[in-house]
Amino acid sequence: MPDGFREFEAVLGALSKMTSDEPRADDLLDAKCPKCESSSFIKITDLYDEAEARAEDSPETINTPRDGGVTDAQAIARFAPPQKRSPTLRIVIAAVILGAIVFAVFHFFGDFVAQLAGAGAVVVLVGVALTAIRRASDDFYDRRARWRKLYMCRKCGQLIAP
Ligand SMILES: [Zn+2]
Repeated sequence: MPDGFREFEAVLGALSKMTSDEPRADDLLDAKCPKCESSSFIKITDLYDEAEARAEDSPETINTPRDGGVTDAQAIARFAPPQKRSPTLRIVIAAVILGAIVFAVFHFFGDFVAQLAGAGAVVVLVGVALTAIRRASDDFYDRRARWRKLYMCRKCGQLIAP
């Protein structure tokens, strides 16, 4: 599952580079698949929802190739909605490092200087936390926006972003 998701993100990254200079349209009325020239596409969000619904109703067909040769199991693994990543780990690491610095200052310079260092560390930590939270949220909305705009060729499985 994490492997499939990383691969999906790599595809998304490549697509956004490929399409970033082109005007964006919301549908694919006139679009043709760059690989097989078919003009039949399915929205990735629909593909995922359908695959998940089918997997629940009839789990025995989860490995049957469907549109674009993609099985329901693959669709669920590769095209799941992007998840919010938690900024907590980054904040905890910063807190541990700053705590160690304040402790070292206390050890070498005594508690007066350590109090100043502690106050400075709190300010730095708040800055780190705010930045980490904003980045995690920007990153999430960015990935979700790209995921919502993604289509797959029904014939050959090529992914395209209008
Ligand atoms: Zn195609």
